[in-house]
Amino acid sequence: MRQPSSLNKAGADACRSGTRYDGTFVRRALAKFAKAWHIGAMVTLLQNTAPTPSEHPDARERPSGSLTADRPSLLGLERPALGDALRSIDVPDRQIKMRTQQLWHWLYVRGAGDVDRMTNVSKAIRDRLRDGFTFDRPEIVSEQISVDGTRKWLFRFPSRGAGRPVDVETVYIPEEGRGTLCVSSQVGCTLTCTFCHTGTQRLVRNLTASEIVSQIVTARERLGDFPDAETPAGAVVPSEGRLVSNIVMMGMGEPLYSFDNVKTALHIASDGEGLSLSKRRITLSTSGVVPMIERCGSEIGVMLAISLHAVRDDLRDLLVPINKKYPIADLLDACRAYPGLSNAKRITFEYVMLKGVNDSLAEARDLVRLLKGIPAKINLIPFNPWPGSPYECSDWEKIETFAEVVNRAGYASPIRTPRGRDIFAACGQLKSATERMKIRDREKAEEQLA
Ligand code: SF4
Repeated sequence: MRQPSSLNKAGADACRSGTRYDGTFVRRALAKFAKAWHIGAMVTLLQNTAPTPSEHPDARERPSGSLTADRPSLLGLERPALGDALRSIDVPDRQIKMRTQQLWHWLYVRGAGDVDRMTNVSKAIRDRLRDGFTFDRPEIVSEQISVDGTRKWLFRFPSRGAGRPVDVETVYIPEEGRGTLCVSSQVGCTLTCTFCHTGTQRLVRNLTASEIVSQIVTARERLGDFPDAETPAGAVVPSEGRLVSNIVMMGMGEPLYSFDNVKTALHIASDGEGLSLSKRRITLSTSGVVPMIERCGSEIGVMLAISLHAVRDDLRDLLVPINKKYPIADLLDACRAYPGLSNAKRITFEYVMLKGVNDSLAEARDLVRLLKGIPAKINLIPFNPWPGSPYECSDWEKIETFAEVVNRAGYASPIRTPRGRDIFAACGQLKSATERMKIRDREKAEEQLA
């Protein structure tokens, strides 16, 4: 990922309707951004002192929309289920195919969150849809914007049954030529990976397919990534193409523990007549749920990423405790057998760089040996600290030397530039408000990190 650095007129001009990410970050555009959003914070940035994140001024004013339990949502239903929903409100069988297609188009191509926008659907059907179903988005509890343009939303979904409403975080990372949305699959996580903030939050529940799709649709709506929608003034977005061009299932939770919901949601996200994201631009990241890896390839067909982080079982048992159940050798066998694996469809191995823990040259060489024969890319992730985390990030030279060894062996090994650290949106830092720290404690921690 690139670090922002230079001035650019095109970018500044684009700022009127949203800042297109044009090569590098645009300082002049940021100044306008400061005017529009959070002058104090951005002036601070321009003076090269500690960066301060900003929060979207409208975030807390939005009505508490919800996928209410009394009316099911139409978001997150695949076409046959959408057809059943139409049948349940007495749409005649001969119209089901056509009406399903209309709804699909409104929901996923036009991003309609209101049945009254669906002007080619008869009024009688619209009334019945309104009575029987909801199109609501989650409540946006907060929308934070990092000084590097990364956005983090805290979405609140309503209770299901006797449960309480739940909060999840979704992150948007704009770069040159692409905009990546990091989507959550669970509230909390059972897997307690020791470098990951989410791992300190108890699992509350799996997100439904509807809630997973809602994160994508709501993010696109907030960014103005639907036809006729406006990109907010000052938003940092890619210089061309779609604003959300890539999806990574790398937010809160282990996606393969919520397999059916994630599968349905990703089928919808990759449907060519709807959200239309290529499966090559969707990556599912797993900590290593070995028995589900084959199904991920054959039934979902998206790109695979593995949270590896160690080359020895004794260390991986500690960093990624699911390793005790599915050790490295079994995990790599499952990777070798991943459906569709080829040089054009490589597996990404994530490796977080922890000072003095897993960053030696010997480990870099072992990593290369371990992955031999697997078409792979290795993402080196400088550790993103969070309050109370037991690790430190490796020194930069150490990361570069590690990358060199991996590179020389013929593997692409990009070092992932930390994004959104100032708003706790970087890799491994997500944790929802369900167990959020007190604001005072959080501010103190942010000061220490700045
Ligand atoms: S890294 Fe992923 S699987 Fe591990 S605790 Fe964090 S969210 Fe869970």
